[in-house]
Order: sequence, then C-alpha cells, then structure tokens
Amino acid sequence: MRRRLRGLHTIPRGKDAKRGSVVRRRWIAAGLAVVAVVVGALALRKSDPLLPTEIRGSPAWARVHYGDPDRADFRARKIVEIDFLGRTMLVHEKVQRHFLRLERLFDARAPEYAAEVAAGELDDWSYFNRSVRGEAYESNHSFGIAIDVNALTNVLGTVGDMPEAVVTQWEIEGGAWGGSFGRTDPMHFESHLTPEEIRERYKPDGTPKDWYLEELSS
Ligand SMILES: [Zn+2]
Repeated sequence: MRRRLRGLHTIPRGKDAKRGSVVRRRWIAAGLAVVAVVVGALALRKSDPLLPTEIRGSPAWARVHYGDPDRADFRARKIVEIDFLGRTMLVHEKVQRHFLRLERLFDARAPEYAAEVAAGELDDWSYFNRSVRGEAYESNHSFGIAIDVNALTNVLGTVGDMPEAVVTQWEIEGGAWGGSFGRTDPMHFESHLTPEEIRERYKPDGTPKDWYLEELSS
C-alpha cells in the first residue's frame, strides 16, 4: 500500500518533471525561433532595396521634394528663369542655386566650352511639361530639375563632348549627368539634391558656402 502510494506519488512527479523540461525546451526553441526571425528580418531589411521615394532622381523622389508637376499652377508657382551661359533656362525655383553652380563649373573648368555654348546654337533646354512630349514621357524636366546643354553635339546614345572636369565635379556635388546613364544622354544634367541640401550648401549666386567649400577641398 505504502509502496503503491509512494509509487503513485512518485510517478506523477516524474511525469511532471519530464513534462516541465519538455515545456522548458519548447519555450527555448520558440525563443530561438523568435530571435532567428528578428535577426533574419533585420538582415533582410538591410539588403532591402530603397523605397521609390528614397531613390534620388526618381519621379517619386522628385514629387516628394519638388511638388506635383501635374498641378495646373505648378509652372506659375515653381518655375523661374535663370541665366545659364548666356541662355535662359527654366528651372524649379528651389533648384536654381545648384544649376548656377553648374554654370560656374563650366566657366571655371572649361571656359572655352562655356563660351562656345553661349555663342553657339540655341540647343539648350530645361523645363517642359510632360504634356508637351506626351503622357508616357516622364522625366525630371517636368519638375524643372533637369537641363540639357549643347544638345546638337551631345545627342542621345552618343558619348558627346562634355568636359570631363565639369561632369566629375558636378557628380561629386550631388548632380547627375546623363552621360553616365545606361542609355547615354550627354546633354542632360539633373539635380539629385533636395531643396534643403541646396540651400544649406550654396549661396543664392551658386557659390558654395564656406563650410561646404572646405568640405569639398579636404
Ligand atoms: Zn534632358
């Protein structure tokens, strides 16, 4: 009787202990699974491609920073005229300092080329509404953040004749050049800076502010 009792008593205790360790093991496994999922998610997130609004130069990015070019008042409210190597260019008011900087780069690093542009054919374009080129055409020209320089000698799909010293510095300073695109467009220059970055870096006439100049020369 005693034995049976003890037996009865000890058996469940053994079962409980066994069950306890199984439960504990399951919890540990579940915990490890959660850790694995979290680590995996973090790793995936790191390699995740950027959102369209985070890709500089994409239409989604431009829309966030420069507004909606399909709005009826976009041109009237956002587009201004600047003088660029003796030409009138239509650009977004918030990007003008960046293109004035590009003009300075032409003047400083390729003065002969700059003079040719000014004296040459009227083949330099800037802002145009998408409707001008049809609905399917979407480019940064419709936001006023792209200009075309010397189009006749820098035709789509060719290498063109843009001075390398200008292009290199433009790309260092957050500009994009069509000659580096998959389908080359060497006449094409566009800004990949936000309005805030442009204001922070450049004076109204397009010269870099002192801190930025220091950063560029270091
Ligand atoms: Zn263009």
